[in-house]
Amino acid sequence: MVQDIITQYIDSQRGAMLSLLEKMVNTDSGSYTTDGVLKVAGFISDVLLPLGFDVQMLPSSKYAPHLLARRRGSGSKKLMFLGHMDTVFDEGTAKRRPFCIEGGKAYGPGVCDMQAGIVCLLYALLALEEAGYTGYEELKILFNSDEERGSETSEQYIIEECGKSDMVLVMEPGMPGDYVVIERQGGGIFNLDIQGKPAHAGACPLDGIHAIDEAAHKILALHGLTDLSLGRSVSVGVIEGGTRSNIIPEHVFMEIDLRARFHHDGIALMEKMQEIVDTSYVPGTESTLTKVMYRPPIEKTPGNQALYQTLVTAARKLGIPVNETYCGGGSDGNYTSAQGIPTIDSLGPIGSLEHTDEEYILVESLFSRCKLTALYIVELSS
Ligand SMILES: [Zn+2]
Repeated sequence: MVQDIITQYIDSQRGAMLSLLEKMVNTDSGSYTTDGVLKVAGFISDVLLPLGFDVQMLPSSKYAPHLLARRRGSGSKKLMFLGHMDTVFDEGTAKRRPFCIEGGKAYGPGVCDMQAGIVCLLYALLALEEAGYTGYEELKILFNSDEERGSETSEQYIIEECGKSDMVLVMEPGMPGDYVVIERQGGGIFNLDIQGKPAHAGACPLDGIHAIDEAAHKILALHGLTDLSLGRSVSVGVIEGGTRSNIIPEHVFMEIDLRARFHHDGIALMEKMQEIVDTSYVPGTESTLTKVMYRPPIEKTPGNQALYQTLVTAARKLGIPVNETYCGGGSDGNYTSAQGIPTIDSLGPIGSLEHTDEEYILVESLFSRCKLTALYIVELSS
């Protein structure tokens, strides 16, 4: 029976899974470390090619190429897996704090976010190969190299590829409490430039146009859009402006963070933000808002809920606990869900403290989530 083969196979591969994870974590693969990300892509290809996957590298204008792999099966469902090969860590981090296991937790740069999710998926595919299972129409994997930079150069590929899939399964880390995510906050980054006019602050202040005065009004108006009880917020996180205390400041630059739980709130916030930008509180100032990126929220759609119910079925068969939750912070699942493609996120091994030196995964969850991923593919395909 497929389930027994999956379980036995993954139980027999514990050492191999940990050593692949160790190799990946000990490879510096920050978004800007192109050769390291390429090395990780190499480790992944080494597993996928012998499994009969067609592996392609998609060009990126700024980061390492993204990896797209696909394999055809005999069924009627097209499954797309999403993940990322890059981490937030600088070169030298792997040497400073290499992979280690202590008290049932594995540590190291990117171990949780999300090298363990990659290992989890690869061994789920190996387990299905062991069981001779090919009941899907297509298995597609897109591992990008710039997720930690807002998927700047991979967003177009993600949107294009998910449109040809029936569902998207994201291998971001699971959360303590056995959580997966079918509802996730949306958010964006915006830049605001305010242009005024310089003048001597003592001799002829009226000749100047005070950009910082304008910025102060705008910040209060922007922050007034926040309503945390409704899951929406606007926060000015960076502000730069002025040159000397005795000069009326000519220019202010701000970086703005926007969050929304629902797509219509995100759109409304962006419209209201533009209205505030277009209002001159200090006559003569000119302001320009630039969208750096925006990821719409993952909403709890019927399609996402159905994906979760199938996961619960697979988890029950394996005796593995699973729960669903709402989560702040974005992932590439935000793009696919906004396209109307059923999306489930955080299927990877359970861990926490991503983007910090204390980042970890629970070692046992590497194996349990791997079994779950393999059986989930079977359940979704049938
Ligand atoms: Zn991640």
